[in-house]
Amino acid sequence: MSSSGFDAFSDTGAAVAGEAACQAFVQYLRKRGRGQRIAARRIAADLQLDEDTVQELLELACSPEIGLLERATQVRCPCCDERIEREGLLAELRLKGECLCRGCGCSIDNPAELAEVDIRYRLSDAADAEVDACQRAVAAKPVMRAVVLCALLVELRAVRAQMEACGDVGEQVVAGGEIYLTVTLAGEHIAWEVFAACSERSNPAAAASLANAVNSFKPEVALFVGVAGGIPGKVGLGDVVAATTVFDYDQGKETSSGYEPREVQLHSAFDLTQRALHVASSEQWKVRVKSARTEIDQSFTAHVEPIAAGGKVVAASRSPTAELIASIAPRAIAVETEGAGFLAAVRRFKDVSGIVVRGISDLLDGKKASDRAGSQERAAANAAAFAFEILVRFQKPR
Ligand SMILES: [Zn+2]
Repeated sequence: MSSSGFDAFSDTGAAVAGEAACQAFVQYLRKRGRGQRIAARRIAADLQLDEDTVQELLELACSPEIGLLERATQVRCPCCDERIEREGLLAELRLKGECLCRGCGCSIDNPAELAEVDIRYRLSDAADAEVDACQRAVAAKPVMRAVVLCALLVELRAVRAQMEACGDVGEQVVAGGEIYLTVTLAGEHIAWEVFAACSERSNPAAAASLANAVNSFKPEVALFVGVAGGIPGKVGLGDVVAATTVFDYDQGKETSSGYEPREVQLHSAFDLTQRALHVASSEQWKVRVKSARTEIDQSFTAHVEPIAAGGKVVAASRSPTAELIASIAPRAIAVETEGAGFLAAVRRFKDVSGIVVRGISDLLDGKKASDRAGSQERAAANAAAFAFEILVRFQKPR
């Protein structure tokens, strides 16, 4: 929709005030109706932005090219001292050759020369119509629920950043004390209610969290989103892997002749794997990374491949665990510690589709150096962007 004033504003406003401030401002405007007056100071307080930034954004929104807002200058009636709007008086004057104070009814000769008391703003007719059309489109979409789980603070931050780009993030505490962030996400085909929580770092913890989330929110879709170690030569730092299959490498038997691994495979849901393939086939999801971070580094790609999950953080490609993974899950391109528990738990709920989405934060060797270089933040942001793109594009079968 290139004719959208809000889109045009977002493109220009981000350069003026930064992506986050601009998005917050847009969300704010989208919640106002045509009649509501908007004051600069009030926006600054509500959005915790400095007043100069707000003023710049307001000027931009009022500019003829954007046309989202129009000024509503407050002046006082010279007879009764009532506050009236200059623009209304001027319009009336143009139309009828005379304008009257709504308070006392006296005729005001020259509204352009009255001293201004305050400047307010209100949505233009075009912006109001756009908000209206958008609300009607959202109301027409089926409502579905998605749960997004992660296990580390850096992952939760990335998920939260994606949620904040969607709208106002709320909070819900469920029995047992688990805290969920909540947001409404307007997907292309689905109006999502998204619930996100941070569990602990292990397969059993991820399984428990998923079960708790399903019982609390009855979601149709569940995603585990976070970082993983990549198998060297198969992936690069910052790449995203949407798991088709998670190999649980911890299952096996210790015998007198050694350890006999048992191959346990858990599969992501077919509909979500399909969606992940289509998201990965285009570069569009990377735009979402930009919205959550200022620095843009696009030298990463997305894969839809198997991964491995177990109890250990694998920090060396020549470790016994890395060798075990290579022998029982040779197709795995990443290693992590929650995906198997998560998918094993998803399987128990027939109405829930699940998928694991991972960003590559290290390549097993040199993990500490990679983590220090901020690769966890990058990997988590990329994984969260990819996961939210899956939700945005998701469509129910006809
Ligand atoms: Zn008056």
